[in-house]
Amino acid sequence: THFGFRDVPAKDKQKLVGQVFTSVADNYDLMNDLMSLGIHRLWKRYFVATAQVKPGDRALDLAGGTGDIAVLLKERLGDEGSVVLGDINAGMLSVGRDRLINRGHVSGFDWVQCNAEALPFPDQSFDLVTISFGLRNVTDKDAALREMYRVLKVGGQARVLEFSEVTLDWFKPIYDFHSFKVLPKLGKLFARGDADSYQYLAESIRKHPPQEALKAMMTEAGFGRCHYKNLSAGIVSIHSGYKL
Ligand code: SAM
Repeated sequence: THFGFRDVPAKDKQKLVGQVFTSVADNYDLMNDLMSLGIHRLWKRYFVATAQVKPGDRALDLAGGTGDIAVLLKERLGDEGSVVLGDINAGMLSVGRDRLINRGHVSGFDWVQCNAEALPFPDQSFDLVTISFGLRNVTDKDAALREMYRVLKVGGQARVLEFSEVTLDWFKPIYDFHSFKVLPKLGKLFARGDADSYQYLAESIRKHPPQEALKAMMTEAGFGRCHYKNLSAGIVSIHSGYKL
């Protein structure tokens, strides 16, 4: 299989993204630590720590994968609060669910297999909607943003944590070397020879809309007070917007 799919039609892309995450699910957490030297944990902590939520709220974490964000969110929401973790991939959901249950996280979590482009929730269901390292995998990003807007309560916040455009010129070649040379090798060594999936991940990062473009897409989807903040020189950025 080859996942470098610049010219693949949208419907095939969805299938390929499915295969990528099925093939990486078991090694997903280890690979995140290796690829980012553990820094993804800090980005995720900051992403959740600065979210607009209060105890008792109801949050939706889209493309929730193995549950990193859901667990952090639940700490902020308290016993009365709840988190719905939505992901399109059954493999990621089941790895995440086992992991959470093994760590004693059971009540206040729901797992829902769903596509971010067409959410199975009524309008105005959540106080907060998050998507972390997920939007770049979604084929129709505008549809996903519109759905995030629809299921938010008025006054609620949407947050996107995603790879973005590096802002430091001297750092760009180092970052490219890491993404296109080191990353596929790590995939080969630690993820059962699965270099193609990691090649795909590197390409998907380069094709994702940069900071200003994503901000404009959020505004277009209906969000107000759209804003972004770069972390680690723009390796990732956090976008937020409100349903006003
Ligand atoms: N949010 C987690 C994190 O930050 O570690 C997981 C991120 S992982 C890189 C991307 C996730 O997006 C995968 O679990 C994949 O199954 C999911 N995904 C891809 N396309 C999706 C879609 N259209 N709707 C919902 N989830 C999707």
